Amino acid sequence: MDISDLMSRLGVEERYYTRGPLSVTTPIDGSELAQVAPDDQSVIDEKIALAHDAFLEWRSTPAPRRGELVRLFGDELRKHKDDLGQLVTIECGKLLSEGLGEVQEMIDICDFAVGLSRQLYGLTIASERPGHHMRESWHPLGPVGIISAFNFPVAVWSWNAALALICGDTCIWKPSEKTPLTALAVQSLFERAASRFADAPQHLSQVIIGERAAGEQMVDDPRVALISATGSTRMGREVGPRVAKRFGRVLLELGGNNAGIVAPSADLDLSLRAVCFAAAGTAGQRCTSLRRLFVHESIYDSFVSRLKAAYASLPVGDPLQEGVLVGPLIDKAALDRMHYALDRAKAQGAAITGGEHIGDKGWYVRPAIVEVDEHDGIVLEETFAPVLYVMRYDELNEAIALQNSVPQGLSSCIFTRDVLEAEQFLSATGSDCGIANVNIGPSGAEIGGAFGGEKETGGGRESGSDAWKAYMRRQTQTVNYSTALPLAQGVKFDI
Ligand code: NAD
Repeated sequence: MDISDLMSRLGVEERYYTRGPLSVTTPIDGSELAQVAPDDQSVIDEKIALAHDAFLEWRSTPAPRRGELVRLFGDELRKHKDDLGQLVTIECGKLLSEGLGEVQEMIDICDFAVGLSRQLYGLTIASERPGHHMRESWHPLGPVGIISAFNFPVAVWSWNAALALICGDTCIWKPSEKTPLTALAVQSLFERAASRFADAPQHLSQVIIGERAAGEQMVDDPRVALISATGSTRMGREVGPRVAKRFGRVLLELGGNNAGIVAPSADLDLSLRAVCFAAAGTAGQRCTSLRRLFVHESIYDSFVSRLKAAYASLPVGDPLQEGVLVGPLIDKAALDRMHYALDRAKAQGAAITGGEHIGDKGWYVRPAIVEVDEHDGIVLEETFAPVLYVMRYDELNEAIALQNSVPQGLSSCIFTRDVLEAEQFLSATGSDCGIANVNIGPSGAEIGGAFGGEKETGGGRESGSDAWKAYMRRQTQTVNYSTALPLAQGVKFDI
């Protein structure tokens, strides 16, 4: 597949993607797209130094001015949405509408960040001492290291970068080694925006090309104030302690094992569509993909037989083609992991429908429905593929307890028209996840809310709401505007 025209329209010079030992392939047909050169240790060191120097300047630029840069960047994304969306699809294999949707999400977070750049509010706090005033100020934090996963190759970076930039931070991005091309394209668009911004310091945003070791170097560098890492729980388990060791800040967005409950009162047509999109859509390669489904005993047989029929008719194929709903897995390793999971499920006595490898190019599979009796073993693990474990339940309490009894805590949902059930699911004794939905599948979040999950998902929150606070440092300030020096808590210290 020739991407040179696309890359040239996105402003990426050929030398960045035609030479180097790291081969980039498309999951669409497995062919090689490009060869990129990983940055060596000294280049990474230099990039971090440049990001640090740029931060020292950028932190003094007024926040609404910083917002103006993000506005210009959003304009570039609008202009190049079609090309960038197509490149996302070619590089990671999601449907074209999803590739375009990812770029739209970038535009949305830019808009959000522009507004936020005038709303980085602190509190004023009543002091217990006369003639004193307390307040809380939010200051820029420092360079932010962003590690991203292959499955959201550009949107996740933008959730971090748009907020970090308006907060006065600079960004160093280590994209997935499977998707460096989209990162190079985004960097080029960002540089275009920066060139239109009077007085922007250079090197506000940089990309590090490399594999795990490149990420580790950034993780260990004390100049990087915050590491925001998106990827597997395995990766987070390594990154978290390394950053803690140097007392850096960490924001982790890790794996999920997301569940849905279909209650007896549910709108079953709506539930069916939602389940199909959430479990089979994006070939099950969203962190929020639906992986476990609890269906009430009274509707189990009819619902699951409709689900199987819907799965059998899902068009699987080239994600650039209109009408296709399920694209490829990212690579052969992902296919092997899916088959490993299905073998383990079979050994646990599961009944499997689908799951076959399709075709001889690319890594296409028929999404699998796996009916299990026991909520145990492989069901408790995240398999990053379209595998949906389906189980029966009698009592809602029991379904919620099972839903919560996995190590991950990202996203969850219930389909019900019973307000008592819906509120129970959303209450303190309901879902233990960072995201809980009613009559919507667990995937497909909007940028306005804080995104992230609990337990082994890492506890981080990105994107909307007050997630911006992670990118700033909070300072509590007390000003004495009297001539006396009363001490707090009535302490006496007269000299
Ligand atoms: P991965 O963990 O293999 O890689 C993610 C990134 O981490 C890559 O850039 C990789 O180079 C880097 N990395 C790996 N080990 C590292 C280390 N020790 N130090 C520093 N960097 C390291 O994940 P993947 O296969 O690209 O993506 C799929 C996983 O990501 C799934 O588990 C999915 O649930 C998760 N994910 C989570 C979210 C979320 O927001 N919670 C979003 C997208 C993907």
